[in-house]
Parts: sequence; C-alpha cells; structure tokens
Amino acid sequence: MIAQCCKSAVPALLLSAILNLSCFAGTDEAGIIIRDVNLIDGTGSDIQFAVDIVIHNGKIAQVGQTLQWNGKAQIIQGNSRFVIPGLIDAHVHLDTAVFAQLTEAERTEAIRHNPRAFLYNGVTTVLNVSSEEEWIWELRRAQRAGEVIAPRIYAMGSMFSPKGGWGYASGLPDSHSAVEKAKHYVSKKTDGFKIVLEDGLGRSGKFTEMPDKMLNSIVAVGREHDIPLYIHAINIEEYERAIAAEPKAIVHGLEDPIPEHSTLPARLKQHNIYVVPTLSLFKSFVTHDGSLDSTILRNSVPGFMQEYAKDQQYMERERMLLNDYTKIDSYQWVEEKLPLFMENTTLMHQAGIKLAAGTDAGGHVGYNFQGYNTPWELKLFVECGLTPMEALVAGTRNGAEVIGVENVLGTIEPGKFADMLILGSNPLDDIGNIRDIGLVIQNGRIYERDYFAYKEEDL
Ligand SMILES: [Zn+2]
Repeated sequence: MIAQCCKSAVPALLLSAILNLSCFAGTDEAGIIIRDVNLIDGTGSDIQFAVDIVIHNGKIAQVGQTLQWNGKAQIIQGNSRFVIPGLIDAHVHLDTAVFAQLTEAERTEAIRHNPRAFLYNGVTTVLNVSSEEEWIWELRRAQRAGEVIAPRIYAMGSMFSPKGGWGYASGLPDSHSAVEKAKHYVSKKTDGFKIVLEDGLGRSGKFTEMPDKMLNSIVAVGREHDIPLYIHAINIEEYERAIAAEPKAIVHGLEDPIPEHSTLPARLKQHNIYVVPTLSLFKSFVTHDGSLDSTILRNSVPGFMQEYAKDQQYMERERMLLNDYTKIDSYQWVEEKLPLFMENTTLMHQAGIKLAAGTDAGGHVGYNFQGYNTPWELKLFVECGLTPMEALVAGTRNGAEVIGVENVLGTIEPGKFADMLILGSNPLDDIGNIRDIGLVIQNGRIYERDYFAYKEEDL
C-alpha cells in the first residue's frame, strides 16, 4: 500500500542461494500417510479427530479413518496434533523490506529472505498485488518451476495508478497508456489487475485520483480477458467507485463510519466482492504482535531488522520518512482510524461479506513484517468477532477464492494440492496457536518449520 514509490532498483533474485529443495520429502512414486491428526479442513466444517491423510504426487489423495496406501509409503505419526490448510496471504509485496532506512545490502538481504519468512510462518500461498513487474514475473516463474523456495506466488505486475498518484513515482499519464499496460499484462498471463483509487490518507488529496476514463478503460480490458480486479480503496467514496467496477476484492479495510441505513454492505455481498481489511497493516503503524525479542520474530527477519525494530530513534525516523511520503501525520491518522477499521470489519462480517487475510507486509510502515504478520491478521479477525474457525477459513479457503484457485487450494480435500500445517496445539481453543507450527507441508513436501528460519550464514 505504502511508499513503494521510493524504492531503487530491485536487487537481483539471488536464486542460487535458495535452490536447495531437498528435505525429507517423499518421492514422486511413494505416498505419504500422515496418521492420527485432528483435522480442521478449511471448509468451516467441524474438526475431525483421529484422521489420516494420504499425499501422493504433491496432491491430497485421501482423507479419512485408518487409511492404507497401495504401494510404498512414508508414514508420519501425527500424534493427535492439529492440521490446517497452509495459510494464504492475499495482499503482499515480496520486493519490499519494511524499513525505509535500510542500506541497499540490508534491503537486498531482507527481500531475499521474504519468501522463507512466509513459509516459516505457515503461509504457503501469496497474492502479490504489486511489485516491479519483470522481477515478480521471474520469481513467479521460478517458483512454479520449483527453482526457488517460496510460497506459491500469484502475481499481477505493478499497480495501476495515475501520474502523481498514490504509491507510484511515475504513474500512468493517460488512459491510452493504461490500456497498453493492461494488454501487456494480459500477454504476461497476469493473475489480476491491481487498481489504486486512493488520493492520499485521510482524503488529503495530496495524490492524483484515478480519472473515471482511466479506471473504465482498465476495467474494460479486464472484462474482455477475464482478468480479476483487485482495488485499493479505503474511504466510502473509493469503496463506491470500487463496487461499481465489480472487482474480485477490495484489498484494504474501510476508514469511514458506515451510515446506519447504508446499502454499501449489502451491495458488497450482492456482488460477491471480498474484502481484505489488512488490519495488521494499520495496527503495525503503532504496535506489533508479541515480543520484539521473540524467537519467532528472530527466525522471521534478519537480525539487523529485529534490532532496528527495538531502536526507538530508528523507528522515530521511520515515522518521519513515512510522513514525508504521505504528506500528512499518518500516525495521527491511523490512531484515529484504527477503531473504525476494526468496527467495519465486524460489520462487514456480520453482513455476510467474505473476508480474506492479507497483510500488505513490507511497505514502509512501523512493524509491518513479512510473513510474521499473517498469523496476526487472523488473530485480529478474532478480535473483530469472528470465531477462530471463521478466521481460519478467511486465512485459507477465502484466500484461495480471492485468487480464484479454490478448485486446487485453500482446503484439505482429495485432489487439492497438499499444502498444510501441522500445529502443536488447537487453533480453535486459541487462534494464537496458529503460531505453534511444527511441520510445513507444501506441494506434498514436508519441512520442519525451522528449515525456513533466517540464518546468518545465508548471507
Ligand atoms: Zn499493498
């Protein structure tokens, strides 16, 4: 969302450092049987106890009681631990690194670790809603080819924003160039168009708003080629413009009170528009989930970032740099708006609007940590009144629906990709238990969580 404008050239991919995919995975021929787990399958159905799951060729082959596999099989004893689908973060920018003051070398290192940070925190799929286009196409290709360790990446190049617009240093000068860009992205098999309607935090008007003509021209190309639209909107007027464009999702929460008799929630539901409230983004301006000394944070980010996060002066300079960019006191703005972002999430959920988990992690905002913040987003959903089960569905199945891949991802059912987490404790008792990850299974490959932990020797 924020301050992606000021980045310099994106560092090289450094793929060679993350090429080793070996672990104790099954081969293509052998099956894997996970015995005796308590299954929360992501559909919202009740937990199932003492279940076996059979994985073959990266897919879920069977789910049931006392299963056998006809052929060679590796057995994993679940010992009554808890299985949930891999988490899906539906709003990321993999080429961002949280702090604006990082040196180029630090920034490169942080970005290199980003994909692992997601996996370490149980995120096996991401929707990358905007990054430098050639960089993200290449990372998506490398991930799909199995050349890098990364979550499944769905990507849509860079965002559509007018010249002088939000989040973009040199945006689109006119509708013609917007159409050219959209057609180019179609040729790159983009997974969506990200369209920015923001004109500055708090209706500051400090940034150019996208003209109707430009918006309509991008929407038209999307319709013609069946490309889903993801709209960055944050206030009522922007939400109204977004609804008229019938996007797949609005990828930020709503900062305004919803008037009592407003039909806005009903129309969001009627058009099946998902909302990705990015609560952890707004919270991360001023706070963070858990201790800055925690082992989980240490394993999620390079050590220098953990140290900077604890340095009050460093963080104060981050604030000033963000305010320079937004041209308002963005921290004062967020303090005022945080209760509304939370309340509106509650209201939308009550109105039957489907929510999905997205963090917008990495933009230059406070403690906006990549990967680390995704489980926090689910905890914040529970603070907004969702049950832990509903929060888990938002972080799994609904994320798959937002991307349009619910036929292959998001739940634990036969035929889907074997992306799942084995947790040491029950997330339905306490949603915070989604941080208690033992194994991460992606595409049928089984990893100890610590396999993805940040290690200094990676440098
Ligand atoms: Zn964003």
